[in-house]
Amino acid sequence: MRLEVRGLGFAYSSVPALRDVTFAVQSGEVLGIVGPNGSGKSTLLRCLAKVLKPHVGTVFLDGKDLAGLKGREVGRLLGYVPPPGSGQAFPCTVLETVLQGRRPHLTWGVGPRDLEVVTRALAYLGLTELAERQLNELSSGQRQKVLIARALAQEPEVFLLDEPTATLDLRYQLEVLALMRKLAKEQGCVVVMVLHDLGLASRFSDRLLLLHQGSIFAAGGAESVLTPENLRVVYGVEAVVTKTPWGLQITPVAPVSSSEKAQEKARVAVRSQ
Ligand code: ADP
Ligand code: MG
Repeated sequence: MRLEVRGLGFAYSSVPALRDVTFAVQSGEVLGIVGPNGSGKSTLLRCLAKVLKPHVGTVFLDGKDLAGLKGREVGRLLGYVPPPGSGQAFPCTVLETVLQGRRPHLTWGVGPRDLEVVTRALAYLGLTELAERQLNELSSGQRQKVLIARALAQEPEVFLLDEPTATLDLRYQLEVLALMRKLAKEQGCVVVMVLHDLGLASRFSDRLLLLHQGSIFAAGGAESVLTPENLRVVYGVEAVVTKTPWGLQITPVAPVSSSEKAQEKARVAVRSQ
């Protein structure tokens, strides 16, 4: 599987949110998307998941235009986990929600293999005891786990996860991110995940995309992307970046003052000419 994005652009009404985004991810790779609030991470993921239609550019799955694929086909290929808090309003139990993940695979009804996959997904996220509970009776972290379990039950080739660990406790942050790496490395899945925590992003991703105002500012290995200079321009902070055996540790020290930020922008503009 190869997910390729070429020249993608999107605007809400007339306000541009993404400009000329181009990248590709292969089977076995974990791509982390990072960037400050409002930089376009969720919009990009929604375009990849076919929730939004890009205004320009194309998303290809193994060379096929995503726009031309049918819902069921998309459901078998792409497992999308929306960001926490974007939840469903209708009443549904945990089991029913996770079972929805099997829909693209069903022909005549739910079979033993579907139940097995769902049971495994529930167990993996520690949700077995909660299977009969209503979704709206759960904490936001528990709900997030249910949506991740639903994507697992879908058995897609490509996982698109929007801040999957934002509401999870430390243990499940590690469990979920390690599982995604395992799915990439052992089953050849493509994993694209938006991560807020730069340390976790550097640790669990093979490559990072750093978004800035709707465009790719930097792409590549964590050490080349999360440099103090890039963090200064994109996040507006002075930060100390330390290498550890568990990825990079990013310590924000102080916000960059607006005059310094303007100078830095001017320097970057001159450099990129
Ligand atoms: P991120 O996920 O990086 O925080 P988003 O992709 O959610 O960023 O947002 C990118 C830009 O698009 C922001 O300026 C945001 O305000 C705007 N935006 C996001 N969703 C909508 C929407 N539904 N309607 C209008 N503007 C939106
Ligand atoms: Mg977002």
